[in-house]
Amino acid sequence: MPTPIQSSQPGPLSRSGAENTKPTATANREWRCTRCQKLLGVRQDTGMHLRFARAHEYFVGFPVVATCRGCGTLNQAASTAR
Ligand SMILES: [Zn+2]
Repeated sequence: MPTPIQSSQPGPLSRSGAENTKPTATANREWRCTRCQKLLGVRQDTGMHLRFARAHEYFVGFPVVATCRGCGTLNQAASTAR
């Protein structure tokens, strides 16, 4: 019974910059009010998905300016997600 030992070698290119693949964290995509932290919309790749009510949704492009329905603060979001 031959026992090939080939899994003991550590791959040199296994973990070099592998964290920069896809930031799919939902928290980073949420657009919240700067005052009351109410969720105003969700960032997408091509625009902003706004949800004002249960049946009212809007998809707009950047920059986005919206008034918080909770406290009335005017919020603005640019395309840069940083
Ligand atoms: Zn607010």
